[in-house]
Amino acid sequence: MAYDDRNRAFLQAFMGRSTLAFQDAQPVLAAILSVGGERIDPKDVGEGQFQSYVDAANQAISPFDLEIRSSLPQDPQSTTEDPPQRVWALVNNTSDPLTQLATTYSADEIGFLKRLLDYMFHTNNTVRTEGMCAAQLQAVGLHKAPTARPVTDDAPQTQGSASHSLTMTQAERMILNLIEEGWFQKSRKGYLTLTPRALMELRGWLVIEYNDEGSPKIKFCAACKDMVTVGQRCADVHCGGRLHDHCMQNFFRMQQAEECPVCKAEWPGDHFVGERALGASSRPSGVVRRQTPVSARPSVEPSTRSTPSRVALEANLDSDSE
Ligand SMILES: [Zn+2]
Ligand SMILES: [Zn+2]
Repeated sequence: MAYDDRNRAFLQAFMGRSTLAFQDAQPVLAAILSVGGERIDPKDVGEGQFQSYVDAANQAISPFDLEIRSSLPQDPQSTTEDPPQRVWALVNNTSDPLTQLATTYSADEIGFLKRLLDYMFHTNNTVRTEGMCAAQLQAVGLHKAPTARPVTDDAPQTQGSASHSLTMTQAERMILNLIEEGWFQKSRKGYLTLTPRALMELRGWLVIEYNDEGSPKIKFCAACKDMVTVGQRCADVHCGGRLHDHCMQNFFRMQQAEECPVCKAEWPGDHFVGERALGASSRPSGVVRRQTPVSARPSVEPSTRSTPSRVALEANLDSDSE
C-alpha cells in the first residue's frame, strides 16, 4: 500500500507513547481508518492490519535509524495480562543510547545512569546470582561518582566516568523521571529493572558493554533468542541455558522434555534470573538480614519496604557507605 496520511498518523501515535500494545493500537487505527469514511469499530481492526502498518512505518523510518520493535514483558509480575501482552515501541537503532539521552539529561545525570546500569548488569549480575536489578535504595546509593583518578594525558576517560556526583535528591528525581519516561519499572518488592521498551532500545548497547569475550554477562533465551533479564536458568552455573518464564511451557512441549536446552540436564525450575535470584543474604536492608537467617525459603517479603521513607533511606545509606 502507498504510504499516506494514515501511515503518518499511525507513526505519530508511536512517537507519543513509550510502548503500544495491540489492544491500545486498535482504537488508534480505528480512528485513523474512520477519517473521511465509514466508522470502524476498534474490535474490527485485525492483527494483520496492525502489522502491515508497523511494516510500512518501519520502511519509512529505517533511513533515520529508527525502528518499531516488539517484545514480551520479561517479568510476568510486571503485567496483569495473562498471557503477557506483546508491546511495540519506536526505538532508536544507534549504537550509543547514552548519547541519545544527552538531549534530555546532563552529563552528571547520565553518569549516574551508567553507574546504575553497571550495578544492575555487572555488580548485581554474577555467575551465581544473576540479579540484573537494583533496589531503589541501592540505586540512590550510587549518587556519588567514584573519586576522580589523577588525569593523565594518554588515558582518555571513558563515557560516564568523568561525571560529578549527584545529590541523593537529584538521584531520586532522576530515577522517578526514568520510571515516568518508561525506561525503568519498579517491582512490587521495590526493585528497579529495565522496561521492555528500554530493553528493546538498549539491547545492542548492553551486549557490547557487558558481554566481554569469555564471560558474557547477558544471556539469551533458548526459545525466543532475546536477552533474559527475568526468567529461569540451568542448575549448572557454568551452563548458558536460559529461558523466559513465558517461553518455557511451549519450549518444553516442543522439546518433549523438561531439560536444559544447552546441556540437557534436568531443568531445575527453581533457579532464577532477576530479582527472584536474590537470596536473603543479598537483601538491600540490614533489617532483613538480622531477622531472617539464610534458609531455603524463597526470598519473598511483603512489599512494605517498596517505598522506604526518606529517613529510613538515609539511615540505610549512611550505614552502607564507608
Ligand atoms: Zn524467551
Ligand atoms: Zn544447562
